[in-house]
Amino acid sequence: VFIPCTALNSDPVNHLYITMQTSFRPDTILPMESEEFWRQLLHGFTAPIKLSEIENPRLQTTSHGTKSIQLSSASQVALQEFAHSHQLHLRTIIHGAWALLLSRYSSENDVVFGELRVGEKTASHGSPDPAIDTFVNILPVRVKLPPDQALLPWLQELQTNWMEMQKHAHIPFTTIQSWSEVSPNILFENLVIFEDAALSATLTPPGQTGRELLAQSQYPLTLFAQVESTIDLEISYHCGQFENEAIQRLLGHLQTLLEGFVVDPQQLLSRLPLITAAERHQLLVEWNQTTAEYSQDKCIHQLFEEQVSRTPEAIALVFEEQHITYQDLNQRANQLAHHLQSLGVGPNVLVGICVERSVEMLVGLLGILKAGGAYVPLDPAFPSDRLAYMLSDSQMTVLVAQQALLSTLPAHQAQIVCLDTDATIIARSSHQNPSSDVAAEHLAYVIYTSGSTGKPKGVQILQGAATNFLSSMQLQPGLNAQDILLAITTISFDIAVLELYLPLLIGAQVILASRAVVADGIRLAQLLETSQATFMQATPATWQLLLAAGWSGQGQSSLKVLCGGEALSPQLAKELAPKVASLWNMYGPTEATVWATVYEVKAADLLITSQRSAISVGRPIANTQTYILDSFLQPVPIGVRGELYIGGVQLAKGYLNRPDLSNEKFITHPFSEQPNARLYRTGDLVRYLPTGDIEYISRIDNQVKIRGYRIELGEIEVVLATHSAIRQNAVVVREDLPGDKRLVAYLVADEQQNITVNDLRNFLSEQLPAYMVPSAFVILAALPLTPNGKIDRRSLPI
Ligand code: AMP
Repeated sequence: VFIPCTALNSDPVNHLYITMQTSFRPDTILPMESEEFWRQLLHGFTAPIKLSEIENPRLQTTSHGTKSIQLSSASQVALQEFAHSHQLHLRTIIHGAWALLLSRYSSENDVVFGELRVGEKTASHGSPDPAIDTFVNILPVRVKLPPDQALLPWLQELQTNWMEMQKHAHIPFTTIQSWSEVSPNILFENLVIFEDAALSATLTPPGQTGRELLAQSQYPLTLFAQVESTIDLEISYHCGQFENEAIQRLLGHLQTLLEGFVVDPQQLLSRLPLITAAERHQLLVEWNQTTAEYSQDKCIHQLFEEQVSRTPEAIALVFEEQHITYQDLNQRANQLAHHLQSLGVGPNVLVGICVERSVEMLVGLLGILKAGGAYVPLDPAFPSDRLAYMLSDSQMTVLVAQQALLSTLPAHQAQIVCLDTDATIIARSSHQNPSSDVAAEHLAYVIYTSGSTGKPKGVQILQGAATNFLSSMQLQPGLNAQDILLAITTISFDIAVLELYLPLLIGAQVILASRAVVADGIRLAQLLETSQATFMQATPATWQLLLAAGWSGQGQSSLKVLCGGEALSPQLAKELAPKVASLWNMYGPTEATVWATVYEVKAADLLITSQRSAISVGRPIANTQTYILDSFLQPVPIGVRGELYIGGVQLAKGYLNRPDLSNEKFITHPFSEQPNARLYRTGDLVRYLPTGDIEYISRIDNQVKIRGYRIELGEIEVVLATHSAIRQNAVVVREDLPGDKRLVAYLVADEQQNITVNDLRNFLSEQLPAYMVPSAFVILAALPLTPNGKIDRRSLPI
């Protein structure tokens, strides 16, 4: 009749004594009704809740650990009074807190956990053998957590549901589980055991308690709630999957939730506090103590001018055969600045710049800044439609260009200053430093990034933000006057700000690589070696390109390597780190001025035992704050995933001409007392490591990175949808070969029209930059859909 656990050990869920159905079943319930009940209860629940958030795959042990806490007598009395006054059983309260904890840890609003349920002995089923009297079953408890539900009615409903379940509790758990829709058949990975007097009384074969019965439980996590004269919460866990500290924190969260229950029974579920006061302080305050001095009242060009006066004869810039001193660069930029001022350029005036990589490019950038204006990079390689949009959206009145590139530009209203053909006119201007009213609160540049609604969006960066950024980078990763920086990034990508200006503010040297060299791994590797560069920043794709081209790093043991713009894989880190002096993972969105966090890769990150999927992105830089929040803007605990929000002086002013989008992405700072303080919501899913470093996990939305380029898949989809022959489309990034990320467009075409891949490519190339044109086009009869009618991107064929 009873099957001891030992006989069923091969099945992780059947380690308990399972009773014959007849010992539980009230005669009034028919088996069919129970099957229907459980099937309905579990309908639509397809995957177990994983507490993988706090799992640590590095630990290789099979041992079990336990951690426990006892609620204070004040909390206990308060909870008991709360339970009593609302006619709630304490079991319901524990269930509620556990369900909330699972939900917050997993970001799921629908959770299932197991509860040990003990059948009442009846006279007819009583047995002389105490072991056989132990009528134990496990019941799956499914809890839905609508975030805007008030606590008390939700707990009351939980209780009603639990009572209802008791009518069907006689069905063995394995049978219940087989009626569920989870595959493989594991409904949950954690168990709750509510140990009250009733349980203890039932489980009293000599020497056996609920805990001992389950000590060898194969569930990774079991909560024992002992509610007798005190309320004790104990977690038994697999040490291979959970770190001791993580379990200790988890108990603290459970306690906070329980204590939060009694404060206000009408609180919304999403508002209940989870983390302890000490953790809150650590996450929000301690780890954000980044205040540092910087030249708040100075702009980039002013700091450059100060450097010019310190080292006028030093070489500032090398481009191919040209070596330009600080003084020379300054004077040329000054002449351009005076000329631009005569054309009306001043604070907050946007000036386009469409110039090939050359000495003139840097003269152009500095000239615009010195005139007091803000530059808008226009990449000559962009299609004319995109350039036309940027020209009209920014309403620029002046455009700095080169004669040879004018033909690539669409029609526009801006007055053109050609750095080559207008050189004589420009040279007539003064080479003294110009003055302007530009200050920290004025714009320094506007960079367009991909926009999900089909058009790029201009991110407006202020002078003060750029100054802080450069000053912070000077400290970490750190650059000094002896350094030689090899600059390879296009000015349309904001990371060029570091490469072009950081050296010039401290007397170091910029070596500017041409567009042709940057695109060619072998030539770039040669330049990196011959230039004796001590500092280079690039995306992971470019570092990979260099390694593939045979760059060995020989003779470059003093090279400081910055890798950013995309996740740095441990494999790439392992290849790069031994070749160079130091390796830094740099993270940040354009909207927070280039980099917001930094991390120096350490030897421990490169150990084979480190199984993390990505290298940490570290901690916030100077005068920058990071917050990892759930969808209700509540801080999530260490180890739990949440969205990264960035605060501080580096936040962009917003998107140009896009107040709605700006309000959506730059939100009111929920934890600051300063008026007008904002946070930027990055769309990046991350978590805190116990050290306070941040681990990047993935994007939350459809933004992707390919070879360092930021792409909103929606932007490509919107453009494709305007093609008359395309009825429906979905663009995804596939990585069918590891390391080879490609854009693929899936299309449903109008059968009456003939379209070829070439047509599509040409059509897209007219509106999107080359890196946004998919590598492959797949025509389907229909796009696969999820049960709720959305495009099922995961089911799109290879
Ligand atoms: P962008 O505005 O082009 O700099 O792109 C910003 C986005 O790139 C971020 O929101 C991240 O999704 C991604 N990103 C930048 N740096 C890193 C990094 N080091 N690791 C992972 N993702 C990164």
